Amino acid sequence: KARNSHEPEFLQAVQEVAETVLPYIAGQEIYSGKNILLRMVEPERAITFRVSWVDDQGEIHVNRGYRIQMNSAIGPYKGGLRFHPSVNMSILKFLAFEQVFKNSLTTLPMGGGKGGSDFDPKGKSDAEIMRFCHNFMAELCRHIGPNTDVPAGDIGVGAREIGYLFGMYKKIRNEFTGVLTGKGLSWGGSLIRPEATGYGTVYFAQSMLETKRDSFNGKKVVISGSGNVAQYAAEKVLHLGGTVLTLSDSSGYIHDKEGIDEEKLAHVMYLKNEKRVRISEYIEKYPNAEFHAGEKPWNVVCDVALPCATQNELDGDDAKALLANGCMAVAEGANMPSTPEAVSAFHESKILFAPGKASNAGGVATSGLEMSQNSLRISWTREEVDERLKGIMKNIHDVCVSYGTEGNYVNYVKGANIAGFVKVADAMLAQGVV
Ligand code: NDP
Repeated sequence: KARNSHEPEFLQAVQEVAETVLPYIAGQEIYSGKNILLRMVEPERAITFRVSWVDDQGEIHVNRGYRIQMNSAIGPYKGGLRFHPSVNMSILKFLAFEQVFKNSLTTLPMGGGKGGSDFDPKGKSDAEIMRFCHNFMAELCRHIGPNTDVPAGDIGVGAREIGYLFGMYKKIRNEFTGVLTGKGLSWGGSLIRPEATGYGTVYFAQSMLETKRDSFNGKKVVISGSGNVAQYAAEKVLHLGGTVLTLSDSSGYIHDKEGIDEEKLAHVMYLKNEKRVRISEYIEKYPNAEFHAGEKPWNVVCDVALPCATQNELDGDDAKALLANGCMAVAEGANMPSTPEAVSAFHESKILFAPGKASNAGGVATSGLEMSQNSLRISWTREEVDERLKGIMKNIHDVCVSYGTEGNYVNYVKGANIAGFVKVADAMLAQGVV
């Protein structure tokens, strides 16, 4: 704790795992006295580097690039790149740590990592984004590779950025390999990868609802965020007969009482992915909806909440508001969006609560499927990938139930942490102290 006292998000993520895993370790002779968790919290390698780039006016800027290679016990490091001004060591270490457990849960052979930069893509031209991505990869390329470390997208890094990053990797290394996931379909990408995190989150929530003999049909759903994860979570909720009431971005949220249907969602995708503007523009086309500047959607009456924007976006008071309004299930599409106070409130009230490392694992799982397709040099159909994704999410749900059941309540946080831990810990034990 002392060594990382200046890294609050990282401590928060470790604390949550320690609270559930340490009591488990204490009861298991094979793990005791091996300091396994102590070894897991120290990254195998953490790299920072300078990224200088020139803007359209000819001015030179300097940002900091990072790659945290957290754990490679069960496979090459795997995890996204985030471009956002808030990026720092604490945030990336928390994300990399969570990624180790998440990747273990997918049942695929992937270690954990995360990276990115404090570069702010908002308001930048396409040419500026390209120059930044190229200069970022000019350094990162020496630390990654298809059998070493395979980055993907995250906040601020979507298909466009992955394209520029891949282009520079290929130029420098002179090889066409599956070194990044989230690639375009014509150059090694996988069908369903763009949809996978959002779809997977809803598949997981559906499995939770099924334990109560319930479903999404007719449910009122509030979603935060309007990026990759939020858009496809909304799409899958609509497929399953639910009503999506809200979406948001860092400027506020929109509340459409009539529901955000497929046509309206297509407009959101246009605003966010092509026009790249604020979510408030939604009400220009749909004036019956409301825009709440600077607020989050957690006061809107709903049955299910899907936080899909960023860490710590749902605090204890937000959780109380959701519970008071009768919310019965929360599944995290984002990483660690609920604060510890919010998680405690959900557990105390015994509603269904899925932590991101379980419910949003569909993205990295499908990245794992992209890696397999690249290695085999084949492409699976949309249906094949979606079936595998569904199967993986069902498996993750079921393993959480088997490790997390306490009486007649399933503590999915405990289940995910212990199930994720066991596989990595066993591999580390087998490989010795290295
Ligand atoms: P995008 O960049 O596509 O979208 C992010 C969304 O969250 C935007 O609506 C953005 O609003 C909002 N947001 C970001 N930062 C903040 C902030 N500080 N305060 C309020 N809103 C914010 O990212 P993704 O959809 O890919 O990622 C969303 C979450 O899901 C992240 O926690 C990410 O780690 C997690 N995740 C993503 C996966 C993936 O496959 N993409 C896989 C697993 C987890 P604005 O545009 O105003 O910034």
